[in-house]
Formats: sequence, structure tokens, C-alpha cells
Amino acid sequence: MSQENFSQIAPRLHQVQDKLQEAAGKAGREIVLMAVSKTFPAEAVEAAAAAGQRVFGENYAQEGCAKIDALKASHPEYALQWHFIGPLQANKTRMVAEHFDWVDSIDRLKIAQRLNDQRPQGMAPLNVLIEVNIDAEDTKSGVAPAALEELIENVQKLPRLRLRGLMTIPAPAATKEEQMKPLRAMKKLFDELAPRYGLDVLSMGMSADMVAAVEAGSTMVRVGSAIFGARHYPNKA
Ligand SMILES: *Cc1c(COP(=O)(O)O)cnc(C)c1O
Repeated sequence: MSQENFSQIAPRLHQVQDKLQEAAGKAGREIVLMAVSKTFPAEAVEAAAAAGQRVFGENYAQEGCAKIDALKASHPEYALQWHFIGPLQANKTRMVAEHFDWVDSIDRLKIAQRLNDQRPQGMAPLNVLIEVNIDAEDTKSGVAPAALEELIENVQKLPRLRLRGLMTIPAPAATKEEQMKPLRAMKKLFDELAPRYGLDVLSMGMSADMVAAVEAGSTMVRVGSAIFGARHYPNKA
């Protein structure tokens, strides 16, 4: 990524903020904007943070931890909040527990138990969201709605984790109505469970569907390409 692209980050961030503010105004709620910086260098995060962004999401453990360390060293005054949002393998839980503030992609108890055991005592409890496979796609991560309550109850027993809510990534949709269907189903599920378990975060909505997600009831959107530009994935061996 070239330097001139970094100069586009602040104006794009402001466009996203404006769009979100309009949607939030219509919904009558405040919405948290997470900037998803995966594949972009620490300098891109710095540019967004300099423009006022404080909440960031990362998908890959090593890449994310390196950026967290870099930003803590270069700009401790920003006090950024970091969310791990990708699939998490057991051999990467320790570094994630030692670096991140939130893990939003919990979909099985084993990973939650490892994060609980590995969260350093000197750090605040790790905030977590459970990822729900709302349209039951075979290829996707996330717990099936039918298995959700059992996972919630087990995660709530872990003292070093704080269960805050649910996250979902619906399948891409061609029409607004198709887009709204899983978002509405997720909101319905959230409304049933939130009072029972004290949940306050529903994370759904990305660059392509953030307005629809807010309309459906999201409290947190995860926006990558609309802020940082198109991603170029390095060849992962
Ligand atoms: C990459 C990613 C995003 C951001 O996607 P964009 O379409 O670039 O906004 C959001 N959520 C998750 C879980 C992601 O992996």
C-alpha cells in the first residue's frame, strides 16, 4: 500500500461516520464503529487513530498482535480498543488472550476455556461475543442457534471472560429484503436472550450492509474496506 492511500483513510472514515450517524439517528441508538484493519499495516491504523478512530478489529492472531504492540509503542495515548474477529485456533489463544481487549468470534467452549485460563491476571477480564451462524451455512464458522444457549451458560461460568453479546456474519445477499432476513432473525434471537443473560452488544454489519444492519438492530458495525480501501491478501503458505 502506498503512502498516498493513507491520506484517503481520514476522509473515508468521516464518510462512514456520517453514514452511520444518519442510520443511528433513524434508529434512535448509538452505534459503535469498529475499523477492521486486517491486511493493512500499522501506519494505516495510525492514520485512522489520528482521525479519531479508537476501536479496531483484526482477523489474524500474529498480524493483530504485532499491530497492537506497534501502536502501544508509538501512540500509547490513543488507548485503542482491539477486537479479535477471525477464526481462532487453539494454538493461537495465548497470544490473543495476552494482547486483545475483546474476542468476538467465540464459537466453541474449548477456545473460551483456553482464553479464560490464559488471560493474564494483571489485565481486565476479556470481553467476548459468541459468533452465531444465523443462516446455517455449512462453510461458515459460528455456533448454530440451537446450540447457543448451552454455550452462553458455559461461557458465563468462566471468571476471566465477560460475555457481552453476539456477533454474526450473514451470507452476502443480492437484494435488500434478502439482506434484512438474517439480520432480523439475529435481532430476534438477541432480544430473546439479552435480558436473560445480560447481553448488551449485537455486532453485525460490514461495509456492504452496515446501514441495513443498524436498521435491523445492530449495536456495533465492523467496517474494513469502506475505511481502508480494497484488501490485497498476501499468499499464505
Ligand atoms: C473483514 C471483516 C470485516 C470487514 O469487512 P468489509 O467488507 O471490508 O467491511 C468485518 N467482519 C469480519 C468478521 C471480517 O472478517
